[in-house]
Amino acid sequence: MTDRIIIKDPFDMHIHFREGEMLDLVAPLSAETFSGGIIMPNLVPPVDNIERLDNYISEIDNAVKGYNFTPFMTIFFKKYSREFLELVKGKIRAIKLYPAGATTNSDEGIKEIEDAFDTLRIMEELGIPLLVHGETHGFVMDREQEFLGIYDHLATEFPKLMIVMEHITTAAAVELLDKNDNLFATVTLQHLCITLDDVIGGLMQPHNFCKPIAKRPEDKSALLNAALSAHPKLSFGSDSAPHPIDKKESAYCSAGCFTSPFALQYLADIFESNGKLDNLQRFVSDNAMINYNLSSNNKTVTLVRGEYTIPEKYGNVVPFNSGKKLNWKIEEVS
Ligand SMILES: [Zn+2]
Repeated sequence: MTDRIIIKDPFDMHIHFREGEMLDLVAPLSAETFSGGIIMPNLVPPVDNIERLDNYISEIDNAVKGYNFTPFMTIFFKKYSREFLELVKGKIRAIKLYPAGATTNSDEGIKEIEDAFDTLRIMEELGIPLLVHGETHGFVMDREQEFLGIYDHLATEFPKLMIVMEHITTAAAVELLDKNDNLFATVTLQHLCITLDDVIGGLMQPHNFCKPIAKRPEDKSALLNAALSAHPKLSFGSDSAPHPIDKKESAYCSAGCFTSPFALQYLADIFESNGKLDNLQRFVSDNAMINYNLSSNNKTVTLVRGEYTIPEKYGNVVPFNSGKKLNWKIEEVS
């Protein structure tokens, strides 16, 4: 039985760092264990111009200084000119598209996908990946599935554009991965662990509530199988999304699970209990390095067998599954 796991350059390919005090609280918690991560741009107002981007970069740099961590920046998808995209290209890793109003702070997202085509064509030419929050405005359990046709359409229309289906939650999305060469995906920790039952099957669990909503048991199994087998087009993206406790434990509960600080320990537990520890390195690092063409920070995280309890709170944020005992803890980060 293995008692020690060494993970080289873990990457979190979907994180919400927020701004201000929340950024100062959560960014170091990710930077401590991860080598880098894709930082989402859905602030209010969104990150959609150079000045806002530069300011956000310096705010993040300030929050993570002293850590070996690379923030991969994104901007919020809008219709952009070639001139702008050429200018911003060196500062960002991707552009994130939100259908209007689908999730937290996405009211300015694109309404009709064809409206996006001119910009997508330029992104394809310039080699800027497109990250998508793929949900329609249909019935909440069907939103992702209904969006899959749009992914298919985009992937065919722009065959050289790297398109990432963010935080996939359905078996059908896993299947679509193998259909188009230029479609990739991220999956969160919580969607490998929970179904809708864990959100509203008993007493309502606000800390399990996120968008896209957790789906059916067969969806969870398909996601878990893809992660455990380290599907080469799937990367870990926590979608770690902190909200202050009064926004979660309240009427009008905000969507988002906070997981990033203990994601590696938790994933080690999941991979071990399924006999797939050997695939963890690929799922949390190698796949992302290959698909997004990342370079190594030469960071290693050593996990050892030993009880670790997920804290009740980080500042004013209650994490996903607080109080849960995990079987792996971090011994060293170097
Ligand atoms: Zn997100």
